[in-house]
Amino acid sequence: MMKCVICKTGDCLPGNSHFVHVVQEKLVVVKNLPANVCNNCGEAYFDTDTVNLIQLNTSEALKLNEKVEMFSV
Ligand SMILES: [Zn+2]
Repeated sequence: MMKCVICKTGDCLPGNSHFVHVVQEKLVVVKNLPANVCNNCGEAYFDTDTVNLIQLNTSEALKLNEKVEMFSV
């Protein structure tokens, strides 16, 4: 079981979370991503494949709108 590096007491359990970030002054939200979520503080950890998906979706989204909501398939 992976220990949370933020609070150092919680365990990271499989679940879902969303990722919000600002790129080039535009808000990008990627919802409903698979993640390991800390059962104490709620910090979400994404694996490499998911991070790649976020980056791909972000570059596509930036071509379209200032504020974007995206959903993983
Ligand atoms: Zn934690």
